[in-house]
Amino acid sequence: MSIDIQELLAKVPTGLLIGGKWQEASSGETFDVENPATGEKLATLSSANSDDAVAALDAACGVQADWAKTSPRERSNILRRAFELVTERKDEFAALMTLEMGKPLAEAYGEVTYGAEYLRWFSEEAVRDYGRSLPAPEGTLRMVTRRKPVGPCLLITPWNFPLAMATRKVAPAVAAGCVMVLKPAKLTPLTSQYFAQTMIEAGLPAGVLNVVSGQSASAISEPLLADSRLRKVSFTGSTAVGKTLLKAAAENVLRTSMELGGNAPFIVFEDADIDQAVAGAMGAKMRNIGEACTAANRFIVHESVADEFVAKFAAKISELNVGNGLEEGITCGPLIERKALDNIAALVEDAVAKGATVVTGGKPRGEEGYFYSPTVLTNVSREARVAQEEIFGPVAPILTFREEAEAISLANDTEYGLASYVFTENSDRMWRLADGLEFGLMGFNAGVISNAAAPFGGVKQSGLGREGGAEGIEEYTALQYIGVRDPYANA
Ligand code: NAD
Repeated sequence: MSIDIQELLAKVPTGLLIGGKWQEASSGETFDVENPATGEKLATLSSANSDDAVAALDAACGVQADWAKTSPRERSNILRRAFELVTERKDEFAALMTLEMGKPLAEAYGEVTYGAEYLRWFSEEAVRDYGRSLPAPEGTLRMVTRRKPVGPCLLITPWNFPLAMATRKVAPAVAAGCVMVLKPAKLTPLTSQYFAQTMIEAGLPAGVLNVVSGQSASAISEPLLADSRLRKVSFTGSTAVGKTLLKAAAENVLRTSMELGGNAPFIVFEDADIDQAVAGAMGAKMRNIGEACTAANRFIVHESVADEFVAKFAAKISELNVGNGLEEGITCGPLIERKALDNIAALVEDAVAKGATVVTGGKPRGEEGYFYSPTVLTNVSREARVAQEEIFGPVAPILTFREEAEAISLANDTEYGLASYVFTENSDRMWRLADGLEFGLMGFNAGVISNAAAPFGGVKQSGLGREGGAEGIEEYTALQYIGVRDPYANA
């Protein structure tokens, strides 16, 4: 990568995007964005308050009717151009994500491809928004269903996938004909700011996408959720914040999509190909420094293969090269902030106090930045916090089991239900597990399964609704049924 960082940062808009114009926050307030690998300041952005949020919704609502009338092909073409522009700018987007979020550059390139795919996928889905036509069984009506844009949307994204979490919401909203107010995570807003600028350059009309980055998330979301013009909130983030938003959304009976936390089990059976399971575990656990909602959280390994699995997995983990993700050969970056580092250290201390053995890692690393050594823990008590909470870091706790039913019940023993992973060479067992596991996503002999063409989402407290796939656009549409008198019906 040959990119001048200062030149790149200078290209990122620092204001709020309201009605097609980048502008200062009305209060003049700002906030800083820092690099988690160094603690250095990267940029200073305008910080939106409640008035700015309402101004953004005003701008969005002002163009909703005209935007809804644009042809699906027009909206499709904008998304296709956006896909091409993001792809052309892959070096810039990848560098921005590594700078503000910390992931290794190679993984940031992976996210550019993954995030851009939502733009391409929904450019294709925009023109395939099928309805149905059927006769009333009594012959009295001809019945037609069609989909209309749900209306103005509030989109709230987390910091861990700064590009993909934005494209996964913005692309289907554009495809469906909705207008938007996007609130990026304050830790990683730069990618979203640059992405919004890219959408404008791709031809998105003024006011369709408005961006309000800011210090206080609730100052932005509360007035919007209380505003009867808003029709939908789509949120990706923690279950705790999701619950707060669901309560607020109830007031105006908003459509909601909630992509919340996870506590993914990674089950390895005695008949698994262990090398394949280790490769899968590296992807499922260590991608994104373990900071993914789909990250394997609990390794549940058959006792007869546990020693082999742990030895091979720990060997691979200790080969990871921890450091600043912009540097050549780095395969594990820093955690997002000091609080996250302290939390990981506390989780490991708690597990050790409850009897766990540290096979590799187990401590913070380096003088600057928020680095933690990739860690494998064995003899983990089921009562340890690592076995119960979302870890969100490079720590792999290993638990063991004897019987299939025990593995299923252990896996399901969580309020979460997002991703799950099963490694087995037995196809009957695979289907039994598909029936028994209570998770919205399952990887069988595969550790990374997210794809723009697949419906992503959880059950239980991991959320409501699906993003991506044919289902993703439905979240942004309202189904209308039209009954037309059948001309042959008796008057
Ligand atoms: P978070 O819930 O703290 O924040 C997410 C977003 O919500 C941010 O933009 C934040 O500013 C905003 N927010 C925080 N408090 C708010 C409030 N009171 N009102 C309105 N908005 C508010 O989560 P995070 O730390 O950014 O992300 C990590 C969490 O996200 C993890 O739990 C992870 O599992 C989850 N996540 C889920 C998915 C998924 O698709 N299911 C994907 C990525 C991350």
